Amino acid sequence: MNCDLLVKNGRVVTAEGVDAADVVVKDGRVAALLSPGAREDVRADRVLDAAGKLVLPGAIDVHAHLNDPGFTWREDFAHGTAAAAAGGVTTVVDMPLQNEPALTNAEIFARKHEAVREKALVDYAFWGGLTGDNLDRMHELHEAGVTSFKVFLGPVSPDYRTLDLGVVREALEIAASFGGLLGFHAEDYSIIRHEEDRAIRAGRTGRPDFLRSRPVDAERIATAGVIELARATGARVHICHVSHPEVAELIRRARAEGLSVTGETCTHYLVFGEDDVLERGMLFKCAPPLRDSAAREGLWDYVVDGTLACVASDHSPCAPQEKDESEGAFKAWGGISGIQSLMAVFFDRAVHRRGLSPSLVAARLSEGPARIFGLWGRKGTIRVGSDADLVILDPNRGWRITEESLQYLNRISAFVGLEGKGVPETTIVRGRVVWSDGAVRAPFGCGQLVRRRGA
Ligand SMILES: [Zn+2]
Repeated sequence: MNCDLLVKNGRVVTAEGVDAADVVVKDGRVAALLSPGAREDVRADRVLDAAGKLVLPGAIDVHAHLNDPGFTWREDFAHGTAAAAAGGVTTVVDMPLQNEPALTNAEIFARKHEAVREKALVDYAFWGGLTGDNLDRMHELHEAGVTSFKVFLGPVSPDYRTLDLGVVREALEIAASFGGLLGFHAEDYSIIRHEEDRAIRAGRTGRPDFLRSRPVDAERIATAGVIELARATGARVHICHVSHPEVAELIRRARAEGLSVTGETCTHYLVFGEDDVLERGMLFKCAPPLRDSAAREGLWDYVVDGTLACVASDHSPCAPQEKDESEGAFKAWGGISGIQSLMAVFFDRAVHRRGLSPSLVAARLSEGPARIFGLWGRKGTIRVGSDADLVILDPNRGWRITEESLQYLNRISAFVGLEGKGVPETTIVRGRVVWSDGAVRAPFGCGQLVRRRGA
């Protein structure tokens, strides 16, 4: 057999298991998986030796803000997708806000595609935006290929809009008519605004005041409301960035009832806690905020049992000065940059620190995201016919995140200084090496738009 690429001697990881196999790639897809020793008659243009290493499906980061076009002093598609490639992320599902304009109709979808297509190093898909005045554009966005629609229930930056549950209910009715997925930033607006106003009026604008202004009950109430509306409308809903096991428990129960509710958490909720906000400051500010250590540990149970089927980065970059705390914690930018460290951090914490199988990494970073976001079949696993999106990861090589190692436009992150084991060394997108040995290996623009399956 002639092929373009042979990845030999590795152990191939999928959500089902870990097996020694050679991966044969032809025309950007997996052409065969051969058991060791069966490759004598394979003639490959390029051979990568993965002896002693794991071959994982590329991660699909379903929650990233690459800010392009519009807010490119925070991040842009070139830096954001280079960081993705460096971290083993082969598909980025980019958020519709922190874009100018927000991605709220098919024309803007096409314009955004044009604006980023020459910059992308990995594949990418788009979330659609729901701002309340574009419900009549949902169907065209779905047809254009958005994976999902983003709704904010809590306070949001001025370029986007908070929706009330009345509008959400109507949007869910529309989404249910074509099987669309709505994803929620689930924090109750009224509680947070009230607590923020109360704190600021009293002159309390420090780190603990910020944390207190976003209590877990605000997240629980918003999530419960979304679940009730999923029940009422039959629509598919996804709860983004779950920060607390009490919220995950609501999702677990809804799923047990048979409702179409899925959940996601982010590496920062699995690694950091509120002490990091209190002691180390605004680099750790995000929303929902980091919780206590018991909550952090409790979240892992829901990652393992699949209630939280995706682990994402919520990569939310900013310029360093936007993290300035001199006017109080409420004014500082909320968001953590994490797309580059997503796989390394999750792998280390799951496999090395908790003794879990590498299969969990493939399940939560690749298969779960692909299934929920309409990319399954083409993306999310390593099997014959799927895109050859592969990561060769050295499970025992140590890493330490430094500012210099970051590919972000702004080289700041809460993850700087973190250490672990398991380095994604080589990242392959549709059979092409885009990152290896610490450097970009392909021209920007080789990443392609991926539309929701069926679009
Ligand atoms: Zn986000």
